Amino acid sequence: MTNIEQDASKLLNEVFGYKQFRKFQLDIIENLMQGSDSVVIMPTGSGKSLCFQIPALMQKGTAIVISPLISLMKNQVNQLQQFGVMAVYLNSSLSREEYFLTINKIKSNKVKLLYLAPETLMLPQTFELLNQLHISLIAVDEAHCISEWGHDFRPEYRQIAEFRKKLNNPPTIALTATATPLVQDDISKNLQLDKYSLFKTSFDRPNLFIEVKTKTDGFIQVMETLEKFKNQSVIIYCFSRKGVDQLSEKLNIAGYKSIPYHAGLDREVRKNNQERFINDDIDIIVATIAFGMGIDKPDVRCVIHYDLPKDVESYYQQIGRAGRDGEDAYCLLLFSYSDPAKIKFLFRDKEEREKIIAFNHLEAMVNFVEDENCRRSFILSYFGEEHLEQNCGTCDNCVKEIKPKEDLTIIAQKFLSCVYRTKELFGANYISKVLRGSKDQKILERNHDQLSTYGLGVDQPLKQWLFVYRQLRRNKIVSLDEKFGSVKLTDKAIKILKNEEKFMGHLIEEKIRYNSRTNITDYNEDLFELLKMKRKELADEKNIPPYTIFHDNTIREISAMFPQTKAQLIKISGIGIAKLEKYGGLLLEIIIPFCIKNSLESKIEEDNLSLMKVQMAKATKRDTRAFVASKMYNEGLSVADIQREFGVKRERVFFYFRDFLLDGNVITKSLDSFLELNEEECEEAWKLFADMEVLRLKPVHELFDGKYSYDQIRICSLIFLNNLNKKA
Ligand code: ADP
Ligand code: ZN
Repeated sequence: MTNIEQDASKLLNEVFGYKQFRKFQLDIIENLMQGSDSVVIMPTGSGKSLCFQIPALMQKGTAIVISPLISLMKNQVNQLQQFGVMAVYLNSSLSREEYFLTINKIKSNKVKLLYLAPETLMLPQTFELLNQLHISLIAVDEAHCISEWGHDFRPEYRQIAEFRKKLNNPPTIALTATATPLVQDDISKNLQLDKYSLFKTSFDRPNLFIEVKTKTDGFIQVMETLEKFKNQSVIIYCFSRKGVDQLSEKLNIAGYKSIPYHAGLDREVRKNNQERFINDDIDIIVATIAFGMGIDKPDVRCVIHYDLPKDVESYYQQIGRAGRDGEDAYCLLLFSYSDPAKIKFLFRDKEEREKIIAFNHLEAMVNFVEDENCRRSFILSYFGEEHLEQNCGTCDNCVKEIKPKEDLTIIAQKFLSCVYRTKELFGANYISKVLRGSKDQKILERNHDQLSTYGLGVDQPLKQWLFVYRQLRRNKIVSLDEKFGSVKLTDKAIKILKNEEKFMGHLIEEKIRYNSRTNITDYNEDLFELLKMKRKELADEKNIPPYTIFHDNTIREISAMFPQTKAQLIKISGIGIAKLEKYGGLLLEIIIPFCIKNSLESKIEEDNLSLMKVQMAKATKRDTRAFVASKMYNEGLSVADIQREFGVKRERVFFYFRDFLLDGNVITKSLDSFLELNEEECEEAWKLFADMEVLRLKPVHELFDGKYSYDQIRICSLIFLNNLNKKA
């Protein structure tokens, strides 16, 4: 084991509570630690963040993390703080006071990770601040934003290279979960990384089941899906704000509690809705694409696309929000043939060059939907990757039972002649309705109930007609007029109508069964629920998302292993030293009585290492707090500032100072203003302190007959200690 490996594993274990590195994590860490640049392309949920977080903790100085979204930053910083890591962010969302506090923290050199928005990066004062620090590394998150070939171009990202140069090119790591070969090239070019190591894992997310269905009765299709995901987190993406509002309202009326999310909502409402989803107050969120970037919620079990996404990158990123914890999740795309035209309409104001890029992206998306081969294989080759497996087993096309095709010539003829008789002016939905003899107002107005094909297909449900249409289209027997969404006949259609050719296909769309597996299947569900409730309670108290406290995986493992001491608890994945210190006791208060009541024995053994970690947990928190608080005071923050920062009473801050001083440190800013004792009284008190073997307040309190509070005596003792340390 190299030194780096040893130190990194130790941090992984003690700070983050994970047992081993995932693929590439250690290689990336080593590369960074050796001062080299890296480009990391790995799918969402593969653990990219640790690749720069651990090197940040291993080195002197501060790591800069550039991240495009405020919510993303806030989330990561929140999570890091839960792990006991000093991380902060600077962006436009901070109040003046918060900004000031943050700057002070940064200046105290205690901050290991500083998250920055690209706009903040460009401010002159930011450069001034950073220039005074030792920058250990620069991490560029969501690095695809640097490329105009990608789907989420952000011009500010183009200035990172310049900024990096001004800071003398610290080791740089660029990370993204979405990059076609073209975008990948653009990242290294624009960041001006001359020599870099590329770390690319497969984009495959085998835990996501991918399914595409024609939208027949969209709302019912959504409800059917929701039935399978009761009490679990679901995201439903819609194309427009109006669509979001309507669907969310309909769901609520139907008894599926949901909330909307889109850019048209009031900032506060939006923020609140997002938080309710993240905090598990509500399970279903209906959203436009405005939702999701920066959502690290690990336990989303289902993502539904109610409309077609505009490119494969966004689609893959959006479904990537499901199953980040590695457990199975289901992704359903409902597609209707009028979607592409709706999306194209949106591009109308774009510049010519941008328009071409956008059209190409959309075309790839439609190809994906129409593809009859493995979905996974399509996506992977889109991102420049080869997929070798014949059958992925987790997409609709792969699990479909392949039944032999039947002769559907007569059915096809019915459909095609109806297209012909309505003069190729209508969409598939309309054609199907005419075939089914619908009393739709529009059909009657146009006298289409007089056609010979009217009602010719009542024997087949609408769904089935649309399925036939899809096959006709795939086989290029009909085409779609993309401007108007109408169905056109091709030469092949004419041949079929003239009985010169047959049409072979399937009449019924196969039903796909999606069954989820979880990593740990054998666990006590009652204990799991109890722990989940406690987690929710704690999260609400602290106003943070439940998953930042523990992931489902962690409490599931507890519910399977029944740890009953802190030394056993720390062996559970996801429990590091900081979390043990914070929540260990609370967990045991639930687990132990439960296990006694149900006669359950622990299945984990403690060992020396885990016992040692428990000792460390007791020590760490107090020491670091004392140190940080005192440093902040030295840096110019007031006691009131520190109180607010740590959420403690004034008295506690003085305890921090005491611990700091007892370690032999010096407080450089005067404490005199807190003191009510006069000079003479002070001298008297100090004399008494000097005679003690262990510093005690009581004798001094008695010396003045209780005239001064313990608080006062404590301050007096701090000044005494400080003077001693100054002399030493
Ligand atoms: P990404 O940035 O690649 O989308 P994250 O860094 O957010 O992924 O990691 C996804 C989840 O996996 C996080 O909850 C993270 O804590 C967890 N994780 C990362 N590395 C490990 C590991 N080595 N062992 C266990 N869990 C890990
Ligand atoms: Zn497949």
